[in-house]
Amino acid sequence: MALIVILLCFGVGGGIIGKSKGSSFFLWFLISFCVPFIGVLTTAVYRSDRDELRRECAGCGRILMLHDAICTRCGTEQDFPEVAIAPESQSRRRVPASVDPAG
Ligand SMILES: [Zn+2]
Repeated sequence: MALIVILLCFGVGGGIIGKSKGSSFFLWFLISFCVPFIGVLTTAVYRSDRDELRRECAGCGRILMLHDAICTRCGTEQDFPEVAIAPESQSRRRVPASVDPAG
């Protein structure tokens, strides 16, 4: 019985996180409820990935996360860019890298 309560807590938690991202509360509730730990983890990754500032590789133009130091395709080391690409969760426009994405 205690397990059910724990699973419900995971489900509600995942649902709230998913809903805060504009996704379906019920969908993420189901995911988190069925696979509690993995579901919450997936929700967190899904969230952070889409909110992450991105940048273009100087060598091959591949879109990388801003925090990536080395391109995963061509291996070029990345300097901190002057411009970053807006997170996937926003429109695809260039913003100054110094701007706090949370602000
Ligand atoms: Zn590259």
